[in-house]
Amino acid sequence: MTGAATALTAMATAVSPAPLTGERAAHVFGDIGVLDEQAVRLAVLVDPRFLAECGWEPAGQILAPPADHPQLGWTPPVGPARAAVTGCVVPGCSRPPGSHGLCRAHRSRQMLRGISVDEFAADPARRALARFGPCLVTACPRDRSGGRVAYCEPHQIRWTRDRRADPGSDEARWRRTTSPVVVTGQLSLAGMPPLITAQVLYGLQQRTRSGATPACRCCGWSWKTCATRRPTPCTPLPGGPGRSGRSARC
Ligand SMILES: [Zn+2]
Ligand SMILES: [Zn+2]
Repeated sequence: MTGAATALTAMATAVSPAPLTGERAAHVFGDIGVLDEQAVRLAVLVDPRFLAECGWEPAGQILAPPADHPQLGWTPPVGPARAAVTGCVVPGCSRPPGSHGLCRAHRSRQMLRGISVDEFAADPARRALARFGPCLVTACPRDRSGGRVAYCEPHQIRWTRDRRADPGSDEARWRRTTSPVVVTGQLSLAGMPPLITAQVLYGLQQRTRSGATPACRCCGWSWKTCATRRPTPCTPLPGGPGRSGRSARC
């Protein structure tokens, strides 16, 4: 892994010797001010069309490939999917929704007025509210759940639980290391060093363009090799080779 990372970095340096600015890599890093020139050099080699293909969202540093992608696809989980948080249903309101799709402030005003959520949201006099700012967990793309809290609701619950279990917890370290909230079909790279992000995306791009398919978790060979060359191929789960990357015998 270290060798591969070194090779990628060396290649990026060799391809583009002129100084680069972070603007050239906005398709990878968005408006994050990336000062790491090695990361920028590698990021400019990542094709914006590939990023669109694999659902890269630069603002949140989130990868969300479509489930039916021939190489990056995934099998929908059994049971309900964990959806990403959308905004409050009041047009233009940026606060995270809670009960009935309304943010807390709008839900409280809607209940006070005693009208339906649809009527409340459609009222042109309704004022959209500004966001509270990002959750302070480094890997979390969500917003804080209130003006006086540091985290989104799931992370606030998690921090309260972890601190109760270990009152001596280092909160700064917890913010840097705790995982994001699971969202079906999404992979968050938020909080990763920019060079690592560029290496992951560039490596994924090259692997995808080479036509590689996921490895079979049962035998460790590629699905193509497993299915065509092994005397007894592993039995694929519904979804088949190239999608789930799993076999029934894993
Ligand atoms: Zn709202
Ligand atoms: Zn959070």
